[in-house]
Amino acid sequence: MSDQSISDSFQPLAPLRRADVVFKSHPRAKRYLAKVDKEGHILLTVPRAGTQRDALAFANKHRAWLEEEREKALRSLAAGESVTCLGAGDFIWFRGEKVELKIEKDFGRPVLRFGSERLFIADENMNLARPLKERIRQIAQAEFPHAVHRLAAQFGEKVKKVVVRDQKTRWGSCSTSGTISLNWRLALTAEATRDYVIIHELMHMRRFDHSPAFWALVEKACPDYRTHENWLKSHQDELNW
Ligand SMILES: [Zn+2]
Repeated sequence: MSDQSISDSFQPLAPLRRADVVFKSHPRAKRYLAKVDKEGHILLTVPRAGTQRDALAFANKHRAWLEEEREKALRSLAAGESVTCLGAGDFIWFRGEKVELKIEKDFGRPVLRFGSERLFIADENMNLARPLKERIRQIAQAEFPHAVHRLAAQFGEKVKKVVVRDQKTRWGSCSTSGTISLNWRLALTAEATRDYVIIHELMHMRRFDHSPAFWALVEKACPDYRTHENWLKSHQDELNW
């Protein structure tokens, strides 16, 4: 943050308080760091020798810049959020099949049915994208960690943590510290396709690149990986809601 900026707000910015930020302690951090994540949260890194109080003072020195970053994040969040409108009669991919969204009444309350799932919704005319996303994300959260650990055991890899994410551009990722992140939208694909993405991430624990040697590992572990890659590519627009 060597360059400074000045922002002319209509209202003077209130100083940040503890409740406005998320503190993260980081034993290897040498200094205070402030950043804004995609959801607009202000994250403050506190070095080992530091205090939350000083971190807050640091953030307040950069208050204007942080506010700008926060507004930017919230704007792009609003722009990218469920613009897709889903209603009864529409079809979505779920577990690798196209299923119809059906609305029924249960003792007068509207119920959304898709595949073998049912969920109560507030209003039959609402955009179903949000409740669907919420439910399918829960399903992903419940199922993906098991799948990862099963495959990790099969390939002799160690996974520390499995995270389910809402990413617009990535199916999964793998960190050197042993965390595998997976997009909840993999619950829309066939299980074999989801498993391919998991295997792909597991193979990154052996090779942290996309070299021919990496793809050779993938092919050995998942011989029909090209089918899954192609399916994901040709359906990404239909899955990205
Ligand atoms: Zn990869």
